[in-house]
Amino acid sequence: MNFQKLLEYQSYDMKCDSLMRELKNSEENEKIVAINKQLNEAVAKIYKLNDVAGALLNEFNSIKQRLDESSRELDDLADIFEENKDLDEVDATEMEHYLKQAKKLKDKIDSLESGLKTVRTKAAAALKEYDEVRARGAKLSDMKAGAEDKFKARRMTYQSQFEELKSKMDAIRKLIPEEMALYDKTKAALNRAPYVLEYDPKTKKCPYALCQMDIYADTQAKLKQPGDHAECPNCGRLLFIPKQD
Ligand SMILES: [Zn+2]
Repeated sequence: MNFQKLLEYQSYDMKCDSLMRELKNSEENEKIVAINKQLNEAVAKIYKLNDVAGALLNEFNSIKQRLDESSRELDDLADIFEENKDLDEVDATEMEHYLKQAKKLKDKIDSLESGLKTVRTKAAAALKEYDEVRARGAKLSDMKAGAEDKFKARRMTYQSQFEELKSKMDAIRKLIPEEMALYDKTKAALNRAPYVLEYDPKTKKCPYALCQMDIYADTQAKLKQPGDHAECPNCGRLLFIPKQD
């Protein structure tokens, strides 16, 4: 087992990770993240305004329907007045009743019309807001395209470093396939580098700073000679004893 080569591979792998982190934390990427957040907010706002518009339309139709009904009732009453106006004897009580009804209908119609006016005002406000959000969304989309171009330019400045690391890593991968299989398996199970560490049998402790677990006797037994390797039972990192030159 060539663990020194594997450590070299790991150092390139970690360098790649740190470059990726740098890129992710770059001003250019943070700008894109911020724009995306605002774009998502704009989209959510559009959905909300669509709901508002739907509710206003329902309200408008319902008021309009009641208004039409009341108008028809008022027309019917007008017909009754028309029919009765030439009669010599009109029942005063009956006429008073119709007048009261007419007055009530008129009040109802006024109130419904005022309701319609309110709905129209709300609809106009919603439409105005919709236009504003749409305009903001269009502006944000343009800004995003610009930010993405800048991010691409930034990424390009990392390209040669990535390629260099990749070619070194590919070369090592071909040299030590068996060690690489161990490395890949360990890396897949963990979420933080390093995955491979030198172990000093004298310490009887995992050398990983965030672990430092006492190594039990059964694992100690696997880690005696230079070239031996075992997994830390606590953090799962691959521990090995370096070969003496
Ligand atoms: Zn450990």
